[in-house]
Amino acid sequence: MKCGLCGRNGFFYLRYSGHHLCKKHFIQMFEKRVKKGIRQNRLIDSEDHVLVGLSGGKDSMSALKILNDITCKIPSARLSALTVDEGIGGRNLEKARQYCESIGVEHHTVCFRDYYGFDIDGVLGKRKADGVLACSICGVLKRNLMNEWAGRHGATKVATGHNLDDEIQSAFMNIMRGDLPRLGRLGALVGSGAHEGFVPRIKILRECPEDEVRQYARALGLPHTNKCCPYAKTSLRTTVKEMLDGLEGSHPGSKYQMLRSVDSLCAIMRERHVGQAPGVCGRCGAPTANRVCKACLILERLKVVP
Ligand code: SF4
Ligand code: ZN
Ligand code: ZN
Repeated sequence: MKCGLCGRNGFFYLRYSGHHLCKKHFIQMFEKRVKKGIRQNRLIDSEDHVLVGLSGGKDSMSALKILNDITCKIPSARLSALTVDEGIGGRNLEKARQYCESIGVEHHTVCFRDYYGFDIDGVLGKRKADGVLACSICGVLKRNLMNEWAGRHGATKVATGHNLDDEIQSAFMNIMRGDLPRLGRLGALVGSGAHEGFVPRIKILRECPEDEVRQYARALGLPHTNKCCPYAKTSLRTTVKEMLDGLEGSHPGSKYQMLRSVDSLCAIMRERHVGQAPGVCGRCGAPTANRVCKACLILERLKVVP
């Protein structure tokens, strides 16, 4: 099929809108949408130091590429990247470092082993963990590490590669767990002004379906790793993903409709908890809604802290 804008060969078909786009117009559409989201949600200030959480996958590499294009034009802004090595076998983190080097972005790597004294494979191997347990441990500890590291290195925003699919999956998982307050922590900008110990997180790809991010990375030839985390196969997120993909397959546009519903729920939950500033963890001092933060509880359960 031909591009609906210029008549060249089609590169991507937007099923939910019925449009075919050539490579050039697909890239333009993608970047325009991301930049519009950044402007509308005021995700970046001219004085920001944005730290990108860079796993080396298509999402974070695409986010880094667009953020680099933007911050290159703002002399007072700074961009750097952090790769967290959780110690999961078979993951290739080298592409992240190489890509940063090729575009001149400062890059750092922090290992769970150095930071927490253990790695995910080591600690889960003993417990015969499935993906549900692996992700609940790894996800919390990774966020904790990123936030602490970002604050210590003067970052004012942490950018992640979360796309539209990730966002609605997270919302669904929170509903399944009955954790409605957590819905208020979704959105393009999370934690702005919440607590001085919390570095706000931005999700610049939140309006982009996962298959479009994949095609964007492909269209530009962005280096990235396709290797999935071995724990992902059995995670709750994968089960939810398959269900939502099935819905989108039979009812194109469902994911966008769900995102709009998530936005409404998020606004309601934020409104309900307005003025309730988080306290700090009694053990590590990190911001938390509870007496002890989740990361400390996990470390205690794993017997990593006395
Ligand atoms: Fe960690 Fe789960 Fe992501 Fe693997 S899929 S890196 S275990 S959060
Ligand atoms: Zn075209
Ligand atoms: Zn704590």
